[in-house]
Amino acid sequence: MTIDAAETMTDVLVVKIGGGAGVDLAACLADAAQIARQRPMVIVHGVSDTMNRLCAERGVPVRTLTSPSGHESRYTDPATRDLFVEAVDLVGAEIVRQLAEQGTAAEVIRGAIHGERKAAIRAVVNGRIVLIRDDYSGQITHTDAAPIAAALRRGVVPIIAPLAASPDGWLNVDGDRASASVAAALGAADLLILSNVRGLYRSYPDESTLIAHVPAHALESALAAAQGRMKRKVLGAQEALAGGVRRVIIADGRAPQPLSAALSGSGTVFGEALQAEACRV
Ligand code: ADP
Repeated sequence: MTIDAAETMTDVLVVKIGGGAGVDLAACLADAAQIARQRPMVIVHGVSDTMNRLCAERGVPVRTLTSPSGHESRYTDPATRDLFVEAVDLVGAEIVRQLAEQGTAAEVIRGAIHGERKAAIRAVVNGRIVLIRDDYSGQITHTDAAPIAAALRRGVVPIIAPLAASPDGWLNVDGDRASASVAAALGAADLLILSNVRGLYRSYPDESTLIAHVPAHALESALAAAQGRMKRKVLGAQEALAGGVRRVIIADGRAPQPLSAALSGSGTVFGEALQAEACRV
């Protein structure tokens, strides 16, 4: 739902910074601090690298659940969920600290994203389908824009983790879908999804097959090109556009000035073409 405050706040930019190895968090945040002086910005971040490190330190195994249809997700049993919340705290605090160093005020917003979990999910273990009842990952039901818009109105950058509030407590949710939900709820103009690839490749991993532009009517063929975890980013792009976001850009979080490069057309643009591209045609 788009709220009044967000309607009066034009040109909101939501940036999802991937939590995987390779993404240059410091470069992303230095660039973000500059851009946040020019337009309202929200940062959604991943935690996967920090989470894997914490699991190794505490001796908690990293396990993956595979659904009968082949969809993979992190097995988030209660001990893993506690570590996930810890990882979220660590990454959120680090982002706030680095932005403060650049003179940009930021604040962690918790509880804006809402979700639900299934009491039991089906997973394939050793070739057999079993029911898992203690997994605390979930689906996003909605995002409450009010606390995020309130922070923007106070002039601070809201920092949001892939964590959803639910009747079962905190749930681990997908970061790309979380950023799409936040962008749609705010009526954002642009959503940037920064990752460890240059964008969506027609034929992964061949970088020369980078797709520059995916108009809304070509989303299905973009979904077919995406494998594994890239599928969620394209699904997120689709959800954001359907929710009214003008443009979604999947781009390289390893580049110098990753946000500026993405906003000037270096990644894969979904939805409305960038001005520069329109000129190139
Ligand atoms: P993050 O942790 O930054 O959110 P993910 O690991 O979830 O990133 O997703 C990015 C990964 O998607 C890439 O590292 C790559 O291995 C994979 N991928 C699968 N298909 C494609 C494709 N068609 N184009 C680009 N990347 C792809």
